[in-house]
Amino acid sequence: MTIAYQNALHPAQPLAAFINTALAERVQWFELFFDRLRPADLTAADRQALGVDLASAGLGLSVHAPLLDYRRSENREIMQEVAACSQRLGAAFLVVHLPEIEASSRFFREELAAVFPALKLSVENARHPDGHYSTGFELIECFKQHGSWLGGCTFDSGHARLAGGKPETAKQVCPAAAMLGQILAAGLPLCSLHIHDNKGDQDNHLPVGCGDIDFSGIAAALRRHGLSVPMVIEHWDGREESRKQLEGL
Ligand SMILES: [Zn+2]
Repeated sequence: MTIAYQNALHPAQPLAAFINTALAERVQWFELFFDRLRPADLTAADRQALGVDLASAGLGLSVHAPLLDYRRSENREIMQEVAACSQRLGAAFLVVHLPEIEASSRFFREELAAVFPALKLSVENARHPDGHYSTGFELIECFKQHGSWLGGCTFDSGHARLAGGKPETAKQVCPAAAMLGQILAAGLPLCSLHIHDNKGDQDNHLPVGCGDIDFSGIAAALRRHGLSVPMVIEHWDGREESRKQLEGL
């Protein structure tokens, strides 16, 4: 099992501290989330840690793009900086949310995928039932249309729970493990998982076991397809507990 840490949900902590913790706790992967942090904010020490230190410790690296509306030109500029930085750091893939794909797919296809050919874009499922690509069906449709320039997908367990947990919405009801099974059965290339738990009411990023997500069903779906992709723990407090639970699946 490839366990990964991410520098999210703890804005007071400097990036170097996250990386040092990942190295000290011997995870196998690190995901750099450009949330409030921007590529221009990275110090020389951060770049050294993200490049040389992670690589020499054998840790893989992925990058998570900021959640922005890419119809705005200033946000497209930020995204280009993030893509350039990801490519420079040799990140395995760049996780993106694709709001309004019809309005922004040209930007992603022509100004990112074409300009940064070494970059693999991984689309993440949204958390709102009425958001974009929040169900397996929508992700499969997305790949039918845009699979030629999209590199893969990132399955977020907590988002899948929230999107599938409200049967009164028009979207199909789809528990998290079933949704993962559905997209793998359709042959979608899976880059990574985002791991956090909830009870279907709030996106509160709980440790594994503190909500009602069927993580053993998720692990079984991965095993069925022979996959060992990075499992990015998307919370900081309680990360050891999540790790123990995941390693026991
Ligand atoms: Zn996520």
